[in-house]
Amino acid sequence: MPRVLLLSTTTGYQLRSFTESAERLGIGLVLGTDRCHRLEDPWRDGAIAVRFHQEDASLRAILAEARQRPLSGVIAVGDRPTVLAARVASALGLPGKSVEAAEASWSKPAMRRRFAAADMRTPWFRELPPGADSAPVGQRVSYPCVVKPLGLSGSRGVIRADTPSEIDAAVRRARAILARPDVRIQRPRDSGELLVEGYIEGREYAIEGVVTRGKLRVLAIFDKPDPLEGPFFEETIYVTPSALTEDLQRAVQQEVQCAVSALGLVHGPVHAECRVGRDGVTMLEVAARPIGGLCSRVLRFEADGQRAPLEELLLRHAAGDDVSGYVREKEAAGVMMIPIPRRGFYKGVEGVEAATQVPGVEEILITAKQDQLLEPLPEGDSYLGFIFARANEPSAVVQAIREAHGRLRFELDADLRVLR
Ligand code: ADP
Ligand code: CA
Repeated sequence: MPRVLLLSTTTGYQLRSFTESAERLGIGLVLGTDRCHRLEDPWRDGAIAVRFHQEDASLRAILAEARQRPLSGVIAVGDRPTVLAARVASALGLPGKSVEAAEASWSKPAMRRRFAAADMRTPWFRELPPGADSAPVGQRVSYPCVVKPLGLSGSRGVIRADTPSEIDAAVRRARAILARPDVRIQRPRDSGELLVEGYIEGREYAIEGVVTRGKLRVLAIFDKPDPLEGPFFEETIYVTPSALTEDLQRAVQQEVQCAVSALGLVHGPVHAECRVGRDGVTMLEVAARPIGGLCSRVLRFEADGQRAPLEELLLRHAAGDDVSGYVREKEAAGVMMIPIPRRGFYKGVEGVEAATQVPGVEEILITAKQDQLLEPLPEGDSYLGFIFARANEPSAVVQAIREAHGRLRFELDADLRVLR
């Protein structure tokens, strides 16, 4: 029986989907997580306690376990375990990313350097070390530009600046985020501080793929139908198939392949983001992991007349199987990561039933917890929940999601209602 190690910082839906798929496929699953105490369903014999911020010790624990019960593959879920996953793969000689490639895709400046070296279109960028004055940077760069803290994700701390004084304010705000105790614990020590880079014009797309021996296979291109022009960059709706022309889809695919090659990613899932503007495709980033958490539910595949979740495809791919028979289902599908409109304590939501009745809406999950302090971007790092929809056409999916969102009334604080 093949055994696949899953390195994950979360223990939610996606893990359940991995477990179910593994059971169906007869693949053994070993979980490596730093959340062992939080598992609802203790992982029988299969869990290894790791500390993602103590990579050497985690690697040793995993290798000791693998000596007892050999592994056939490894998958990282979420950004933090990608480098550890590559170190495990390389130590055990498993198909996987090279450690260097995983590090490059993990570090925004390293990624930019690789893209530039591969002659890809990539914006200018400057690293701003801790304590460095932003004024000289503000004088030398062109506008608009984007300030982003390193070692975070989900657009947290990413701020557009159109003038030197906006850079200054953005740098201060981003530094304040990095100084938060919760953020300091989460971030790896050597992630650097801030990056300032040229603003990339165009609409934004996300690409889900798997790489096999260096060759990318695109599983889905998602349109992000809301304009993402800043000053903050809230992810909201993802919908697939893309409305881009076939030519542009091919151009996107080629550019992601270039990025994958430039980074040296050879095996495993990738989640990439790019912008398509007047002068073509510009990569934002390529992460050496699949689409995160609940959003992965949007993707359903068909193989041998059977429906399968993304996690099944990924497990088989990690175990070395050929997954070319998996094709995304015909229907259009989308998800909205419901943004947090303003800071406040979450009190509740009305209208979920009415919103669920919108034709095409499949499911609405509210993930905010009672009395949880919610913060919008750029400081925040969560969503109110998720709206999933399917329809024949992507435009109908987007319409259904917007209609459903309009029916939800979130209550933040004791008495303030936010109609969004
Ligand atoms: P994260 O790791 O937080 O996802 P990204 O670099 O992907 O960081 O930035 C998050 C979002 O901010 C992007 O999806 C995009 O909408 C916006 N963004 C980031 N960099 C740029 C840029 N150079 N030009 C335009 N938009 C950008
Ligand atoms: Ca991103």
